[in-house]
Amino acid sequence: MRYLKIIVILLSVSLIGGCSNLKLLAPESFGLSPITHNIYVEDGADEGTKAKLRGAIEEAESAIRATYGDVKSRPSVYACISEDCYKSFGGMGSRAKVYGDRILLSPRGLNWHFLAHEWSHAEMSTRLTFTAWWRMPQWFDEGVAVAISEAPEHSESHWQFLVVANIPRPTREELHTFKSLRQWLDAVHRYGEDKNIERKAKGEPEIRPVYATAGHELRPWLAKVGSHGLLAFIARLNGGEEFESAYQTANIAVERDTPQAALPLATRPSP
Ligand SMILES: [Zn+2]
Repeated sequence: MRYLKIIVILLSVSLIGGCSNLKLLAPESFGLSPITHNIYVEDGADEGTKAKLRGAIEEAESAIRATYGDVKSRPSVYACISEDCYKSFGGMGSRAKVYGDRILLSPRGLNWHFLAHEWSHAEMSTRLTFTAWWRMPQWFDEGVAVAISEAPEHSESHWQFLVVANIPRPTREELHTFKSLRQWLDAVHRYGEDKNIERKAKGEPEIRPVYATAGHELRPWLAKVGSHGLLAFIARLNGGEEFESAYQTANIAVERDTPQAALPLATRPSP
């Protein structure tokens, strides 16, 4: 079942963005070399970059554990130190990508924030049955990843900046309509998140209204339900419950069934 998920992810992303990501199946044939059994770095990377990557992976794992309680996924990591490498594996425009249990990092995404974001997607898909994963809305998966990653680009302070600057952003109701990957990507385009290179060139601040709104929605939800509530929610989805029903009642279920589980997420140890 796990392999079916990975094949579906690789094929669906390939249909959207070309087949370059299929090269990750044979990274050593395309200029990446292993530094451990599941970490690959572009040839030519110096020791400092490799050490930075190892540290970022440790920190990202710690963030996943703090939210999910433990870590069930062991994604392979493919780190590019040049933009050409990133593009050759299908990574256009973004800083990092995940294909099932394979995380591709651009030179700009070589830090724990982007690793934790993509790792959260891998962790979520590992914990869900194929049916539950297929039905999970993209906005929720992204919102959890944004909250875990603590990336400044998607932070609560960025959301506040968007509000103060009156920059258009999705309403809560609209956010909940971004269910498929295509709907999510269309929203990212509609709200101008794919125009940041042009914005930067003009000296304007970069904006990420869709990702920031997903994080703004999920941060208080995750803080309320805690790791225990998140796992109970995942179990209910795996049991066949509809997403919206499980999402809307997760807070209530935590308070009613296990008051002690309403504690905030475990504090992540400092690096
Ligand atoms: Zn994401």
